[in-house]
Amino acid sequence: MTTATTTTRRECGQCPALCCKNLSIRILRPRTRAEIEDLKWQLQFDTVSIYIRKNRWYQLVEGRCIYLGEDDRCKVYPVRPDMCRRHNPPDCEFFGKFYDVLIETPDRLEDYLADRRKKARR
Ligand code: SF4
Ligand code: SF4
Repeated sequence: MTTATTTTRRECGQCPALCCKNLSIRILRPRTRAEIEDLKWQLQFDTVSIYIRKNRWYQLVEGRCIYLGEDDRCKVYPVRPDMCRRHNPPDCEFFGKFYDVLIETPDRLEDYLADRRKKARR
Protein backbone atom coordinates (compact mmCIF):
# COMPACT_ATOMS: atom_id res chain seq x y z
CA MET A 1 0.00 0.00 0.00
CA THR A 2 1.48 3.34 0.99
CA THR A 3 3.70 3.43 -1.99
CA ALA A 4 6.88 1.83 -0.97
CA THR A 5 9.26 -0.92 -0.77
CA THR A 6 11.39 -3.28 -2.48
CA THR A 7 11.96 -6.90 -1.97
CA THR A 8 15.61 -6.01 -1.53
CA ARG A 9 15.14 -5.36 2.20
CA ARG A 10 15.81 -8.46 4.22
CA GLU A 11 12.41 -8.33 5.95
CA CYS A 12 10.70 -8.01 2.59
CA GLY A 13 12.14 -11.28 1.32
CA GLN A 14 9.00 -13.38 1.80
CA CYS A 15 6.56 -10.66 0.74
CA PRO A 16 5.19 -10.43 -2.82
CA ALA A 17 5.79 -6.65 -2.80
CA LEU A 18 2.34 -5.88 -1.44
CA CYS A 19 3.06 -2.20 -1.00
CA CYS A 20 3.97 -1.78 -4.68
CA LYS A 21 0.61 -3.18 -5.74
CA ASN A 22 -1.67 -0.54 -4.38
CA LEU A 23 -1.64 3.17 -3.76
CA SER A 24 -2.58 4.77 -0.47
CA ILE A 25 -3.56 8.44 -0.48
CA ARG A 26 -4.24 10.52 2.63
CA ILE A 27 -7.69 12.12 2.49
CA LEU A 28 -9.75 14.27 4.83
CA ARG A 29 -12.60 12.81 6.80
CA PRO A 30 -15.80 13.71 4.93
CA ARG A 31 -17.83 16.29 6.86
CA THR A 32 -20.59 17.50 4.57
CA ARG A 33 -23.26 15.48 2.77
CA ALA A 34 -21.66 16.49 -0.54
CA GLU A 35 -18.26 15.15 0.59
CA ILE A 36 -19.85 11.91 1.75
CA GLU A 37 -21.62 11.51 -1.59
CA ASP A 38 -18.33 12.09 -3.44
CA LEU A 39 -16.63 9.37 -1.40
CA LYS A 40 -19.56 7.02 -1.95
CA TRP A 41 -19.20 7.57 -5.66
CA GLN A 42 -15.50 6.63 -5.49
CA LEU A 43 -16.38 3.49 -3.55
CA GLN A 44 -18.57 2.32 -6.42
CA PHE A 45 -15.35 1.29 -8.16
CA ASP A 46 -14.12 -2.13 -7.12
CA THR A 47 -10.48 -1.01 -7.17
CA VAL A 48 -11.09 1.69 -4.54
CA SER A 49 -11.47 1.38 -0.77
CA ILE A 50 -11.08 3.66 2.19
CA TYR A 51 -9.33 2.82 5.40
CA ILE A 52 -8.88 4.59 8.71
CA ARG A 53 -5.75 4.22 10.75
CA LYS A 54 -5.05 6.14 13.94
CA ASN A 55 -7.99 8.46 13.10
CA ARG A 56 -6.49 9.34 9.74
CA TRP A 57 -8.40 8.58 6.58
CA TYR A 58 -6.85 7.12 3.44
CA GLN A 59 -8.04 6.15 0.02
CA LEU A 60 -6.66 2.86 -1.24
CA VAL A 61 -6.43 2.26 -4.98
CA GLU A 62 -5.43 -1.13 -6.35
CA GLY A 63 -2.78 -0.94 -9.01
CA ARG A 64 0.74 -2.05 -9.72
CA CYS A 65 3.63 0.40 -9.79
CA ILE A 66 5.11 0.65 -13.27
CA TYR A 67 8.59 0.24 -11.77
CA LEU A 68 7.85 -3.13 -10.21
CA GLY A 69 9.48 -5.90 -12.20
CA GLU A 70 7.92 -9.24 -13.12
CA ASP A 71 10.00 -10.74 -10.30
CA ASP A 72 8.32 -8.38 -7.79
CA ARG A 73 11.50 -6.40 -7.34
CA CYS A 74 11.83 -2.67 -7.71
CA LYS A 75 13.55 -1.73 -10.94
CA VAL A 76 14.54 1.72 -9.66
CA TYR A 77 15.51 0.80 -6.11
CA PRO A 78 18.56 3.11 -5.79
CA VAL A 79 16.51 6.10 -6.90
CA ARG A 80 13.08 5.10 -5.59
CA PRO A 81 10.87 7.94 -4.35
CA ASP A 82 11.00 9.13 -0.75
CA MET A 83 7.51 7.78 -0.16
CA CYS A 84 8.84 4.28 -0.90
CA ARG A 85 11.79 4.79 1.45
CA ARG A 86 9.50 5.80 4.29
CA HIS A 87 7.42 2.61 4.09
CA ASN A 88 9.18 0.04 6.18
CA PRO A 89 8.64 -3.35 7.77
CA PRO A 90 7.35 -4.26 10.25
CA ASP A 91 4.91 -1.32 10.10
CA CYS A 92 3.45 -2.45 6.81
CA GLU A 93 0.66 -4.57 5.39
CA PHE A 94 2.70 -7.75 5.19
CA PHE A 95 3.29 -7.85 8.93
CA GLY A 96 -0.23 -7.23 10.13
CA LYS A 97 -3.47 -5.37 9.74
CA PHE A 98 -2.65 -1.91 8.47
CA TYR A 99 -6.03 -0.33 9.23
CA ASP A 100 -8.42 0.13 12.15
CA VAL A 101 -11.45 0.36 9.86
CA LEU A 102 -11.79 -0.78 6.24
CA ILE A 103 -14.61 0.61 4.11
CA GLU A 104 -15.14 -1.05 0.75
CA THR A 105 -18.60 -0.03 -0.36
CA PRO A 106 -20.89 3.04 -0.33
CA ASP A 107 -23.29 1.29 2.09
CA ARG A 108 -20.47 0.45 4.44
CA LEU A 109 -19.47 4.13 4.54
CA GLU A 110 -23.04 5.17 5.45
CA ASP A 111 -23.17 2.48 8.16
CA TYR A 112 -19.83 3.55 9.60
CA LEU A 113 -20.84 7.23 9.73
CA ALA A 114 -24.25 6.39 11.24
CA ASP A 115 -22.50 4.34 13.90
CA ARG A 116 -20.16 7.24 14.68
CA ARG A 117 -23.08 9.66 15.00
CA LYS A 118 -24.84 7.22 17.34
CA LYS A 119 -21.75 6.90 19.53
CA ALA A 120 -21.28 10.70 19.59
CA ARG A 121 -24.85 11.20 20.88
CA ARG A 122 -24.32 8.83 23.84
S1 SF4 B 1 4.58 -4.73 2.20
FE1 SF4 B 1 6.16 -4.56 3.80
S2 SF4 B 1 7.28 -6.50 3.69
FE2 SF4 B 1 6.11 -6.28 1.78
S3 SF4 B 1 7.58 -5.37 0.33
FE3 SF4 B 1 6.36 -3.71 1.28
S4 SF4 B 1 7.61 -2.99 3.03
FE4 SF4 B 1 8.38 -5.02 2.40
S1 SF4 C 1 9.20 2.71 -7.10
FE1 SF4 C 1 9.87 0.68 -6.49
S2 SF4 C 1 9.60 0.61 -4.27
FE2 SF4 C 1 8.39 2.32 -5.03
S3 SF4 C 1 6.32 1.52 -5.38
FE3 SF4 C 1 7.44 1.35 -7.31
S4 SF4 C 1 8.32 -0.69 -7.34
FE4 SF4 C 1 7.73 -0.21 -5.22
